[in-house]
Amino acid sequence: MSPAALSFTVEPRSDALPDDLREAALVDPGFGKTFTDHMVLATWTTDEGWHDAKVTARGPLSLDPSAAVLHYGQEIFEGMKAYRHPDNSVWTFRPEINAARFARSARRLALPELSVADFIESLRALVSTDEKWVPSGDAEETSLYLRPFMFASEAFLGVRPAAEVTYCVIASPAGPYFAGGLKPVSIWLSADYTRAAPGGTGAAKCGGNYAASLAAQVQARANGCDQVAFLDAVEHRWVEELGGMNLFFVHGDGTVVTPELTGTILEGVTRASIIELAADLGLKVEERRISIDEWRDGAASGEITEVFACGTAAVVTPVGRLAWQGGEVMIGDHDNDGGVGPVTGSIRHTLLDLQYGRTADTRGWLTRLV
Ligand SMILES: *Cc1c(COP(=O)(O)O)cnc(C)c1O
Repeated sequence: MSPAALSFTVEPRSDALPDDLREAALVDPGFGKTFTDHMVLATWTTDEGWHDAKVTARGPLSLDPSAAVLHYGQEIFEGMKAYRHPDNSVWTFRPEINAARFARSARRLALPELSVADFIESLRALVSTDEKWVPSGDAEETSLYLRPFMFASEAFLGVRPAAEVTYCVIASPAGPYFAGGLKPVSIWLSADYTRAAPGGTGAAKCGGNYAASLAAQVQARANGCDQVAFLDAVEHRWVEELGGMNLFFVHGDGTVVTPELTGTILEGVTRASIIELAADLGLKVEERRISIDEWRDGAASGEITEVFACGTAAVVTPVGRLAWQGGEVMIGDHDNDGGVGPVTGSIRHTLLDLQYGRTADTRGWLTRLV
């Protein structure tokens, strides 16, 4: 990794939230509702490249109403967490993978790349400035969620890649993603909508993918489900992923299967990590295509014993029910409502223990931020 080219000037704000109010905000932060005192900003222009990199007071951005992002959606983002370890140090998980993905997303959206080193340096600069906002990493699964993003800030209505781009990182103390504790989520199978098509932006982490998934998510809620699952856009047959999480299927013989990467699935860092951790747990892992019939029939017959979704924000979340227009099937031990299957549970704990520094990081997956 080449060294960071940008140095982030720190402009500490004098009106940071007082200690008592900050501590109160950290008690039950929920997800994505409260934010730290500072943010990272950097500007890119065709003439100057990246410049004006800084950590500054968090606050509203000033955008011209013609800023291209507001019209054409030229925007990408990442989602990561900073974890406090028992010795009070603060770490993040595999940031070089997020950085590489951010660069790939940038290429797909015709945005400028930020180097891996500059990306990681921006996280270090923000988290060391707002270090007091990193919750204590106890069993409550709290962390500081980091949201790096980049968007077309040039004031211009013509359709072409923007000549001025803004990079920003905000941070938000986070408790468990799903309020109400870890209980199985129900999934609605979208028949009307797809998330990503071959040649499209499915493998890029861009806001537009999320915008396009919301109508399907509304249908899921209207049908009494928590989340929506998408099938492939060509045959409407192969299971891809949820709107913002990858999927795993646990079979009775201990095999764990996840849809193979096809260019229309987002390559989750959590997904990639679980593939390695599951093998360590003695499970056989397969990356292959999974048809919706395999899911439906396997769940009905009991051949599929557990299904879980995974991503940085929600970590590992059990799936208890799959529903579609005219039917539904329960997954696994549905007498045990609110339960987590044994394989899902052990993968979840293995991952969390590693991230929170409760087990040795034998792979060098953690990077210290503070
Ligand atoms: C971010 C994201 C994921 C999960 O990726 P992680 O790197 O594990 O957080 C899965 N699917 C989509 C569509 C995503 O945007």
